[in-house]
Amino acid sequence: MYLEKSIELFTKGKKNLVGAVNSPVRAYKSVGGIPIFIKKASGSKITDVDRNEYIDFVLSYGPMILGHRNKYVDKSILRALKRGYTFGASTTGEIKLAKMVCDAFPGMDKVRFVNSGTEAVFSALRLARAYTGKDKIIKFAGCYHGHSDALLVAAGSGLATLSIPGSKGVPEDAVKNTLISEYNNIESVKKHIKKHKDIAAVIIEPVTGNMGVVLPTKEFIKELRFITKEKGILLIVDEVMTGFRSKYGGAQELLGIEGDITCLGKVIGGGFPVGAYGARNEIMQMVAPLGDMYQAGTLSGNPIAMACGIATLKELMIQRPYAKFEKTAKRLESVLLKAAKENGIDLQVNRFGSMINPFFTNEKVSNFKTAQTSDTKKFKTFFWNMIENGIFLPPSQYEAWFLSTVLSEKDLKKTENGIKASMKAVAEKHNV
Ligand SMILES: *Cc1c(COP(=O)(O)O)cnc(C)c1O
Repeated sequence: MYLEKSIELFTKGKKNLVGAVNSPVRAYKSVGGIPIFIKKASGSKITDVDRNEYIDFVLSYGPMILGHRNKYVDKSILRALKRGYTFGASTTGEIKLAKMVCDAFPGMDKVRFVNSGTEAVFSALRLARAYTGKDKIIKFAGCYHGHSDALLVAAGSGLATLSIPGSKGVPEDAVKNTLISEYNNIESVKKHIKKHKDIAAVIIEPVTGNMGVVLPTKEFIKELRFITKEKGILLIVDEVMTGFRSKYGGAQELLGIEGDITCLGKVIGGGFPVGAYGARNEIMQMVAPLGDMYQAGTLSGNPIAMACGIATLKELMIQRPYAKFEKTAKRLESVLLKAAKENGIDLQVNRFGSMINPFFTNEKVSNFKTAQTSDTKKFKTFFWNMIENGIFLPPSQYEAWFLSTVLSEKDLKKTENGIKASMKAVAEKHNV
């Protein structure tokens, strides 16, 4: 397989870019090798600078749920583009997208648009603190909520359950109000609540995507909602990844809970930088200009990004791809499990709507600790064999694969063959 141009660009890029990338996962560090540089994408396919074509299961880590360059979305963006790029003043697109988002999430009366998931989440924390007048927050080990200081603790790294910053440059003071609990373990939440009287919020990925796909048990999520409500603690549901994934709207409805503040991103921008946080009126009233919690953004609600988001959601509403996602994910799950079994490889598959995750382990994956029992060396072998077979996967054991609405029968057949060949390669290389 030729990756010459990627290698060349990697060398060139390293001069003025940090590691030749603008987000660390793109550096392919956990799978070794060099990052693949992309030239273009269309529909279900993505093409690198060496003209290798792959079926895309990265989808920019989720936003491209319709596949690349959906015709209707394309047209909407071009129309918006011709009216100008940004004005620093209000536009109708913001009102339209706000209504669409609020309609899709039951607990949301008002929404504020920002430029990324990170921004949505750290603003939501500020809002929870403003509303409750309290400082502490609880997060779960393995959940990722963007790269703001207070949340870079046990964020999918090896630092597990201590309130130790997960990154250099994060002062201990910035994380001293962050308490860590274990996913799917309600006792680990109750313990903190018993000890600390000044907890503003619990933040959670309703279904995780950032330690791989992990689903909450019904009892866990219901009890979490119950005790937070009982104690006057806000529940911040980070749906940046799960939003519009398994149904039109959020995971909350499916799980039978309603958060106090919801964070969004990824799909709602359809590939442009959009994040959002929203809640009922009583809470959103705290945000400036209505209230005294300050949060702003020069490019927030950018008209091109709004046009892309509106068109993406409209298209999802028309296509209603969720039954198809379920069917496709189920099919991939059984192909993965069968191929693993035939080759004597331990594998678990977790999935939720258009997110699916094979873990190379024999332990059921229900939290960060069990996710970490995965054999990342096997994943590495699997990953590069899938690349050789023309299938573009996220370069990490702990990232979900995403399905797009445009996957064809031919794409799926090719993927199945790739899985079979790659599992075989894993068995051969690792002497299973
Ligand atoms: C991707 C993600 C974020 C961060 O969003 P960015 O747009 O990358 O800043 C936050 N929370 C969750 C659950 C995510 O998946």
